[in-house]
Amino acid sequence: MKKRIFLFFIIILLLINLIACQKKKESHQKNEGLNVITTLFPLYDFTKHIAREKVSVSLLLPPGVEAHSFEPKPGDIVKINKADLFIYTGKYMEPWVESIIKSIDNKNLLIIDTSLGITLLENRAGANKHGLSERPDDRPHKHGSIDPHIWLDFENAGRMVDTILKGLVEKDPANKDYYTKNAETYKAQLGLLDKKYRESLSCCKKDSFIHGGHFAFNYLARRYNLKYFSAYPGSPDSEPTMKQLIALKKKMEELNIKAIFYEELITPRVAEMISKETGAIMLKLHGAHNVSKDDLERGVTFFSLMEENLKNLKVGLQCQEK
Ligand SMILES: [Zn+2]
Repeated sequence: MKKRIFLFFIIILLLINLIACQKKKESHQKNEGLNVITTLFPLYDFTKHIAREKVSVSLLLPPGVEAHSFEPKPGDIVKINKADLFIYTGKYMEPWVESIIKSIDNKNLLIIDTSLGITLLENRAGANKHGLSERPDDRPHKHGSIDPHIWLDFENAGRMVDTILKGLVEKDPANKDYYTKNAETYKAQLGLLDKKYRESLSCCKKDSFIHGGHFAFNYLARRYNLKYFSAYPGSPDSEPTMKQLIALKKKMEELNIKAIFYEELITPRVAEMISKETGAIMLKLHGAHNVSKDDLERGVTFFSLMEENLKNLKVGLQCQEK
């Protein structure tokens, strides 16, 4: 009998412990704050800097996945459906968002399009008679497509920070001051980065750069009055034609350019080919759409990627040290 009573007490104690643990876990989950899902790396990094420990932010794109060819899986849609905020670049970068929104039944979810209020540039890819994608001038064009790489203009990046801030405040007004202060600090840093780019790139021997990747840097080139030529339009997964490769090589010779840039996350076959043909050095230009697993573990940020880009641009454009 004594043994039974003892066992009964033990079971009661275990149950009490279990309930206490569960309550602790629930309160911990509540403390995690908003559940935010972002598509591209810049949005993830901006949100992390604005909200810090107040929210749980996750990147929808798995590390290393090429952003333009990404299509969400059913599991991704479930994740978005459970979130408080879903932040994406815009319909031209993530055209799949439109159909996903229709299948979402979470009334609590706030969907944020960070391209709102940003002047979008037309994608001039292919406008050149040689088949090169280049910086727009006044040449007429037939293309109606939009260039989605808005985050590569740091003034736009600041506007995106504002839009994210607005969404966070709408969902969590209690932390409005905290988010606003962090967003202001971040925008001030973006302003300094912009100034550094402008100053560093203002005194260079070359005003053109050639990219063996897809047409991603037009916003950046335009902001700093540079001429930009890329191997091909569209997704990084597509292949440039022979005509486009020959045009790229010709353009390098014509401008006497000794560097070829290549992009992140894919094998730089085009840049390698051009480099072999022309003897040009290869330099990385990171579009920051997404980052590799290693980079994520290393803790790279939008700023560290852009600092690295500036270093390489200065070499490629033969800029004077200031
Ligand atoms: Zn791109």
